[in-house]
Amino acid sequence: MRSTGRSHRPRRFLALLALPLALAVGAPGLASPTTDTAVAPDRSSTGEQNGVGLMRIVVADKSGIDRLNQLGVDLAEYVKPVDNGIEVHAILSPEESQALRDKGFDVQDAISDQSDYARNMAERSAAIRAATAATTATDTLTVLRAEWFTSLDNQLFLNIEVKSSAGTDSTTVLTASWDSGPGTAIGSGGTATMSRFTDAGQYMYHRFSNPVPVTAAPARATITSNKGGSATVDVAKWLGSPRKDPGKHPGKHPYVSDFVDHYMDPTEVTARFTGLAAEFPKLTELIDLPYKTNGYRRNAQAQFGTAAASTLYVTSTAYGSEGGNDITMALIDPGTANAPLTVSVSGTAVTVRLATNGSGAITSTAAQVVAAVNGNADAAELLTANTYRGNAGAGVVAAAPVTQLTDNLKAPASVSREPFQMKVLRIGKHRDGSKVGVFLYCQEHAREWVTPLVCVESAERLLRNYAKDPDTRKIVDDLDIFILPVVNPDGAHYSMYDYNMQRRNLTNYCPASNADPGRRNAWGVDINRNFSVGSVFDGYVGASATNCVSDTFAGPSEMSEPEARNEVWLVDTFPNIKLSMNTHSYGGYFMWPPGAYKAEGREVLPRVDQGTEAYFWTSSDYILSRVQEYRGTAIWPGRTGPVTDVLYSAAGNSADEHWYNRGIIGWDFEVGADIYNPATGRFSAVGFQPPFAEGHEEAMEFANGNIAILEVARAYATDKIQPRTSLEVVKQEPGATAFTFSTSEPANVYYTLDGSRPTYGSAKLALAGMREGVQSITVNRDTTVNWFSIDIAGNVEGNYKPDGQGSNYNKQRVAVQ
Ligand SMILES: [Zn+2]
Repeated sequence: MRSTGRSHRPRRFLALLALPLALAVGAPGLASPTTDTAVAPDRSSTGEQNGVGLMRIVVADKSGIDRLNQLGVDLAEYVKPVDNGIEVHAILSPEESQALRDKGFDVQDAISDQSDYARNMAERSAAIRAATAATTATDTLTVLRAEWFTSLDNQLFLNIEVKSSAGTDSTTVLTASWDSGPGTAIGSGGTATMSRFTDAGQYMYHRFSNPVPVTAAPARATITSNKGGSATVDVAKWLGSPRKDPGKHPGKHPYVSDFVDHYMDPTEVTARFTGLAAEFPKLTELIDLPYKTNGYRRNAQAQFGTAAASTLYVTSTAYGSEGGNDITMALIDPGTANAPLTVSVSGTAVTVRLATNGSGAITSTAAQVVAAVNGNADAAELLTANTYRGNAGAGVVAAAPVTQLTDNLKAPASVSREPFQMKVLRIGKHRDGSKVGVFLYCQEHAREWVTPLVCVESAERLLRNYAKDPDTRKIVDDLDIFILPVVNPDGAHYSMYDYNMQRRNLTNYCPASNADPGRRNAWGVDINRNFSVGSVFDGYVGASATNCVSDTFAGPSEMSEPEARNEVWLVDTFPNIKLSMNTHSYGGYFMWPPGAYKAEGREVLPRVDQGTEAYFWTSSDYILSRVQEYRGTAIWPGRTGPVTDVLYSAAGNSADEHWYNRGIIGWDFEVGADIYNPATGRFSAVGFQPPFAEGHEEAMEFANGNIAILEVARAYATDKIQPRTSLEVVKQEPGATAFTFSTSEPANVYYTLDGSRPTYGSAKLALAGMREGVQSITVNRDTTVNWFSIDIAGNVEGNYKPDGQGSNYNKQRVAVQ
């Protein structure tokens, strides 16, 4: 989805989004400024802040900061280590900037200047006007959610989300009070101030930052605003009751589960799936995905030197596993005066004899050695030399002994260094495309070690319970299930054996200036940012298109990576796939599209329609109750919903790809819910790689979730029940009547107000707002409303044919006083 809507944000905006990477190798030195005389002129003499800006200065080390302080420079409270020193920010006039440059300081660009100041003042005025307008009237409170639930050791929690009509004003404070059960007084259960939740500069709603622990299940809550608004609502129960139950509804059938006993690498996982396919040939087939990955392999490298100017590094032409690791290089001090710089190659040994002056001292600079190596045809066949991170390389290099290049990969030899063949296990009695397909996929992000276990456990349960468990048999008989346990095998091998925090794949798109050995943990493409809908290339937020070392680097273009192309190939090749689950970790989330927005105005991808949103919430209740059955874990209502509402914008993610391009319901799990400690009253995060005892529990409970998704999918596949609707008047005033529709199940309602036949082109009942209920429709004179409804499976109320000629739609007259 390349569009014209590219972001026109200045580049420094992207730079601020990039994660700071602390991967400095050695201690690169820069010449420090020397003379110290005061440079700060009297700023008041330059008039009305003329041209004064917040400027970026890079100094070599802390002494540079001290010198700036001695010079009286107005420094901001900001110090950041960067590649070639320390970045500080100073408020400087153009004259001051020039004076510092004259003293040898590296004064760079402006972070903000007077045009930013003017814009800020305009924004400030607008905000004050809006706040004043908002506070002239009592605010209206819309309660989005009010629920209690239990989690883990039967601890009770309360979750409330409320939208204030004065919420754009940051001084609006909401307070929630609740009772301690039916018939008790409001406030007897507790009182808490709510947090104002904003995202991308926009007010979303008020909420608790974490669910509030309570001692009794509240029946009602009252929310009051300091702007005068008030609302009292019933508190509903969220999810079913927790049960301690390994894997299944208790006591119904013999059911086997628990098939993972350690964190598994992609080689093991793929072997397990190959074994399952061989063991269950009647129920499965193994699909080799068409695009092999680049492979768990790297070019071999060696670095010579430590200070930036006198450092160079070499990179083998061949991958380490294909000969690169056999190459050696030495920088030899000839030990004689007036020696020339020479390069010679013998087999895979590159020998550089450094130049010397009349007294025998080495004179070859890093740049000269790089040029000599790259200029030698035999050496250039084996490797390429570069100066350090784009440095001019004017420093004289030091001699170095014979050094072997290495790809630095530490996995055992049993992990192949070849391009990886990704495999999907297809499970189903009828694998001919006639059944509704469900695509379960795991480990797009390498470091999320629990996620492949969720896919493995799900596959094992389906196959090993098929013979004895009628519920499992229904799923396998009526669905076509595709399980891809590892979307990112190269990254996952690297995460397990080399750098456990690896998120992306292993493919290096960095230019030579960013490709030295010290960057080896910072390359790769974020697979879940490489898809084609709502991508960073389309102007959406939450990925980087320019920073190859960013942890959310989206790749050189949409769909550049074989891992992403394989996912799309699967859903294109099997168009019967209607639902998908993308399992990540951690935090305990259940989410659906939209998953991305543009920064300007927080423009979100189109929201799903009212019927689909209702279907998602109904499904959530079922799926999350099944997750909860395993050990009581509740996924919070505040972590359930569209990605953009509950997490952040993730430009170019796969769930959006499936939904917006193909209409496939694209769900996301984040396994690993925060764990509450009753003793401290605090929640703690579990992280990407908890001790296996915890990782195992997460795999078990979210395998429950996957099985529940398959049950939801089967209900969708076999649903023949038509929805029923009724029209309800919600408000009547002189001259205006408001009405809405209620439905027997999640369904979309199409209606007309002009007496015409309702069709799919008619008005569609919408949601009142984000996380709100259905809208109401106001008419100002007596009106005949004609309508029909259609559920997610496509069943139309009363068997009405919207595209036909019949009149068997619903009709009702709405009167206006
Ligand atoms: Zn992830």
